[in-house]
Order: sequence, then C-alpha cells, then structure tokens
Amino acid sequence: MDDKSLYGRLLGLSSPWAVDKVELRLEQGEVHVWVVLPSKELWVCPDCQARAPIHDHRERVWRHLDTFQYRTMLHARVPRLNCPRHGVRQLPVPWAEEGSRFTALYEALAIDWMMKQAALAAVAQRLHLTWDEAAGIQERAVRRGLARRQLEPARHLGVDETSLLIRDAVCAASARAANAFAFAGACPDSAEADIRQIRTLIDQSRRSSGQAVADGELTPADWETLDGYLSLAQASLAPGTLGEAAGFLEHACDFFP
Ligand SMILES: [Zn+2]
Repeated sequence: MDDKSLYGRLLGLSSPWAVDKVELRLEQGEVHVWVVLPSKELWVCPDCQARAPIHDHRERVWRHLDTFQYRTMLHARVPRLNCPRHGVRQLPVPWAEEGSRFTALYEALAIDWMMKQAALAAVAQRLHLTWDEAAGIQERAVRRGLARRQLEPARHLGVDETSLLIRDAVCAASARAANAFAFAGACPDSAEADIRQIRTLIDQSRRSSGQAVADGELTPADWETLDGYLSLAQASLAPGTLGEAAGFLEHACDFFP
C-alpha cells in the first residue's frame, strides 16, 4: 500500500475525494496530506440540488487525529459553487463540519475525552489545543445535539449520521491496526499508543450502536455480527497479536457498503 492509499484509508476518504500528496515534515513532527477532487466533476447546490458551476476555490486546512504520533494536517482546495437561487455556497466536505478547523473524527475524540474528564483545560493540554479551540469543539458538539433534537420530527435528515459515525470509527480503527501491525517491530512505543486509540475508536462505535439500531440504520442482527468482530479484535489488541486484531477490524470495516 503506498502512502496515498494509506492516508486515504486513515482519513476514511471516499470518492470523489482522493489523496493527491503526502508530505512528511520530520523536524516539525508533522504530516501534511493534500486531498483533491477530479476536475471534471459536475456539482449541485447543497441547498436545492440545482446544477451549480464552480465559482472559485478556497484553500482550507484541518487538524486530523495524529498518525504515527505525527501531528496530521489535511489540506484541500474546496470549491465554492454558484447556485442560480442561493448564490455562492461552499461545497460541504465529508470529513468536517462547516467552519471547523478540525476533522469530525478529531472532534469526536476530543469530545470523548471531554466527557471523561471534567476539566476542559486538561483535555486542551493533552490535545495541544488552545482553550478557545477546545471550547469551540465543545460548543459545536452542544449545538449538534440541540440541532438534532430540534430536527426530531424530520428524523430522516439524520438517518445515516449515526451509522456513518460507526463506520468511520470502525474503519479508522481498522486502518490504524493495520499500520500498528506493520510497524510494531520498528516502533513498540507507537504500537502502544495505537492500541489505546483503537480502543477509544471501538468504544465510540459501541456507544453509537444503540442509537443506530433504534433509528433502524442498523438491524440488530447486523450489529450483533459487527459487535462480534469488535470483541474478537479487542481480545487480540496486544503488541504480539496485532495482526489478528487488524484482520478482525478489517472484516468489521468491510461490513459497511
Ligand atoms: Zn441552491
């Protein structure tokens, strides 16, 4: 697997987005990943689905979950579309909420830690965030929660959301396990850190499962199968048996269309 497809999997990217370039900046301890869209794609307005030509592009950058303990930054030129009815609108990106400088997976991890740890300052310090950045992430999570409650009657709007969250977490765990396995011999410390993060991702998908089943996004039988893979993976999450854990997580990830 080359670095582009590796990062494509780590970021959970799906078509038409693809990784164009990966740059390792060893001295800063950073990995920078550029993702692009095919140039001939036709777009529709995110509000009304009317055909909308590209108006211009905006350079955007997001902080993602660390990979191999490197601070990981995602770059993209995001098209702004010109809708005949709504004017200029930015194309929503699948990995982040509008206006956030963090990917959704990064925010999910931050929120998870905030729920376990009362002090925002401690979480901010651990994630190398400023207090304002951590507070911003928390605020967006609260707003999402409120928005979801307000949307309750129009339930279908959020229908795929929970199962997507589970898929992202499971597939990120799978990619991470595959890498941890590949590099376990060379870097035992990083394997330990990977194992901790894989556990967090598995916990995340478990927490969302009740909601996904209640909403009919996952059948109870599907969740049972998935949960079986996750349990098997969890049981083999140790430096010596990472290959097996990676195999079970890959089955779990492939379970999603
Ligand atoms: Zn429109």
